[in-house]
Amino acid sequence: MSANCIFCKIVAGKIPSAKVYEDADVLAFMDIGPIVKGHTLVIPKQHFDPITATPEPVLAKLVAVVKKIAQAQMNGLRAEGVNVMQMNGAAAGQVVPHIHFHVIPRFATDGHRWNWAAKQYDDPNEMKQLAATVQAALK
Ligand code: 5GP
Ligand code: ZN
Repeated sequence: MSANCIFCKIVAGKIPSAKVYEDADVLAFMDIGPIVKGHTLVIPKQHFDPITATPEPVLAKLVAVVKKIAQAQMNGLRAEGVNVMQMNGAAAGQVVPHIHFHVIPRFATDGHRWNWAAKQYDDPNEMKQLAATVQAALK
């Protein structure tokens, strides 16, 4: 447990939550500020952050539960689609620094729109150069 971490406090039962799923390692509960009603967070019970510091076996367990929740939103809420999101760092919009996946049920009529503003590369080589830079940084 990390001191002053809201999600660690939820795991410990010090802050109440509307639980959807729980096992030895993973907890899923309703987001208090849903983008669409039914919006669920999936977290490890142990404190890790960000994704790059989270062990792969933990990530595998989290993604398995994300899949379960997505299926349950489709079956139980009749969701027509599901968004899965995961933020790392304030620059990426992360507010709670305990790794979590957002699982958001989507409906054609839910009214939510992502501000997904696709940009363009300056020239054809820029994209290739960025790919090469990231590729060279792979370990
Ligand atoms: P982030 O921006 O870090 O990816 O998302 C954090 C999410 O945690 C937000 O969607 C926010 O609504 C949710 N959240 C913050 N505090 C609480 C809380 O005390 N209880 C619950 N259930 N959700 C919370
Ligand atoms: Zn935590």
